[in-house]
Amino acid sequence: MMITAIEIGPEDVRAARALLQWSQGDLAKGAAVGISTIAEFEKGSRTPIANNLSAIRRALEAAGVRFTSAGPTIFGEVSLYVMTQTGGTEMRFRFSLADAASVQEIISVFGNADGADVNIDAVQVASGELKKAISDVVTKHGAAVPPLNKLKQIVGSLQDGEHFLLLPAQPNTTVDKLEVERFLHRLNHPDDQTNDDWDELFGALLASYDISNPRTDRRTLVGANRSSHFCRFCGRTAETGATFKKAAHIIPTALGNDHLKSAEECDDCNEYFGQHTEPSLIAMLDIQRVFLGTQGRGKNDGRPELRFAEGALSHDGSKVNIKSRSVAVDEAGTFTVDLGKGASLTPSAVYRALVKMVLSVVADDQLPFLKETIDWVRNNAHAERRLPTVATATVFLPPDPSAQLTIYTRMQPHPRLPHIVGEFRLGCYMYVFAVPFSQQDGWDLMGFFDDADFSGTFKHYMATAQWAHQDLNRQMKVVMAPKLKFVRSTS
Ligand SMILES: [Zn+2]
Repeated sequence: MMITAIEIGPEDVRAARALLQWSQGDLAKGAAVGISTIAEFEKGSRTPIANNLSAIRRALEAAGVRFTSAGPTIFGEVSLYVMTQTGGTEMRFRFSLADAASVQEIISVFGNADGADVNIDAVQVASGELKKAISDVVTKHGAAVPPLNKLKQIVGSLQDGEHFLLLPAQPNTTVDKLEVERFLHRLNHPDDQTNDDWDELFGALLASYDISNPRTDRRTLVGANRSSHFCRFCGRTAETGATFKKAAHIIPTALGNDHLKSAEECDDCNEYFGQHTEPSLIAMLDIQRVFLGTQGRGKNDGRPELRFAEGALSHDGSKVNIKSRSVAVDEAGTFTVDLGKGASLTPSAVYRALVKMVLSVVADDQLPFLKETIDWVRNNAHAERRLPTVATATVFLPPDPSAQLTIYTRMQPHPRLPHIVGEFRLGCYMYVFAVPFSQQDGWDLMGFFDDADFSGTFKHYMATAQWAHQDLNRQMKVVMAPKLKFVRSTS
């Protein structure tokens, strides 16, 4: 057993660093103390104050070092990322060096271990023998090494002959992840040629951007695992007066998503967006919501029932109902339905609502570059600055009625490509926009979508759709008066 009361001296710290192959700087960083504190302690010229000494100890222990009467020793850790066609699971096997023999036994199921030389085959094939071997190892070591049970379950669920991967770590960039997924897909479907133009379409994009898609098909809470919450929009915490009582929906409920929420949006900011920006976005998407039958909350199962000066538009759960006093038919059989004046919206508020969704889910290490953007979204600051247009298209993807959000974050500096690009999709209606005012952009992004750099990078947009551009600069309310055109199909 570990004896935690052992005093640690300069020798122990030096030896522990050597085990971890840490420099004095690494330890200083890990323990959040000055590098001179470490250097002087190891030289024996000065003993750190008690707080610093325990911080040093904690940093070393957190990295796996245990201080024993025989000096520091290290716990081994083998981490594996198990990847099957349906997903991946990260596993950590911790063991003290005294257990090395049983670790070798476990590892030999997936490769070979000769002393310190561990060789795990990345490509594995599920089979009766493999399942039996894992089962035997679980019987012997499952109690001491709990992750083995999970591994048995995963491999047990695979078909015999199905390939899976054992990787040393979870792929940490989008490029790596997609590459590995594609590799596994090809192992399991050698005849499938559909991926062949993948590099051509996505290669440049993945080299420049990290892509993230928050899950909207199940409960997802951004910032859930933080011990203390801060608000991304006003920067306050509970200590500085913010409250976090209400569930902050990242995508407004009226747009049909109740799953994606944020723990990093305070009640004041939540209320502000609910009053000042989101109603405009919802109004802009009114017609789309009716045609998709998007369900929010309230009467008519939360489906929109829109009233206009000259008519009404609603979805009853199975079809769209259109009422209008003004319907015209031309000789080609095209119906034009004039609905007259309906809801009003503020175009610039639509843009702010779109960007607000992106700010809610963008990686938090990007937030320091987006201070002006946040100020614009939350306080309507910088209102005099011009905004680039928002590109819109109708895309023929599987009609997923749930709203989807994709965030592209540029990984390297670039003179023309926007730092952050957002994509918002409601059913087949897609909106692509640049996040304005980022400190990582050296220009105003006007016309970015038509830049050769952009079209050469976001090739999948160019390949799939006809884009129109919406200017959302206006800060005055505009009243929507939609005209619907129904063109007789020629096929
Ligand atoms: Zn706030």
